[in-house]
Amino acid sequence: MSETVSFESMHGLMFSVSGPSGVGKGTIIKEIKKIYPDCGHSISVTTRRPRGTEKDGVDYYFRSATEFEKLCIEGEILEFDEYVGNFYGTPATPLLKMTECGRDVLLDLTIAGSMALKKKFSQAVTIFILPPSLEVLENRLVGRGTEDRELVNRRLEKAREEILNANGFDYVVINDELSDTVRKVEAIMIAEKCRYFRHSGIEKKFI
Ligand code: 5GP
Repeated sequence: MSETVSFESMHGLMFSVSGPSGVGKGTIIKEIKKIYPDCGHSISVTTRRPRGTEKDGVDYYFRSATEFEKLCIEGEILEFDEYVGNFYGTPATPLLKMTECGRDVLLDLTIAGSMALKKKFSQAVTIFILPPSLEVLENRLVGRGTEDRELVNRRLEKAREEILNANGFDYVVINDELSDTVRKVEAIMIAEKCRYFRHSGIEKKFI
C-alpha cells in the first residue's frame, strides 16, 4: 500500500460568498464559522471607513487609498474591486498560508472579486447569495441603520446590477430563513470537499 497518498485533500478550499450589500453574507459566514471553528476567514483591506462597531483587523483592515495602492504595487493584494466609491482587496499572504496548511477559507467578495479569484484559482468555489426580493433587501439595508438614505439607494442600485450579472457562479442560495441558508451553504461545502477530483490518487490507497 502506498504511504504517500492521503485520504484527505492536501489543500484547504476557498469558498467565495458574493451577493448584494445587506443580503446577509457576513452573518452567514459567522454562522458557518460557529459550525466549523477551524474554517478561516479572509479579512479584506478596504479604503472605506469603519461602520458601527467594526474593528480594524477584525472586520477589515481599514487603510487609506495611498496605503491600499502601495499594497497592490507590492503584490500583496490578490484581487481587488471598487465598490460604491471605495476599494476592497484580498490580502494574498494570509489566504495562501491558511489554504496551504489545509484550512478551508471563506471570502466575502464582490461579484467581480469572486470571478477574479476563480480565474486565479480554478478550484475555488463561488456561491451567490440572493435576497428573497429587492423589497426585503431594501428593508434590511434601511433597518441596519449604518448608512444614510443616499448610500442605501446607491447600494440598492448596485444590487440590481449585481443580480443581473451573477451568471458564472457555481451555486446560488436564496437567503430567506437564515438557518436554512446556512444548512445549504454547509451542504455545498461538504459536497465540494467530497468531489472525486479533489482526492486524486485515492484509489491507490486500496492497491
Ligand atoms: P461592505 O462595505 O458592505 O462591507 O462591502 C461592500 C462589498 O465589498 C461587499 O459586496 C463585499 O462582498 C465586498 N468586499 C469585501 N471585501 C472584498 C475584497 O477583498 N474583494 C472584493 N472584490 N470585494 C470585497
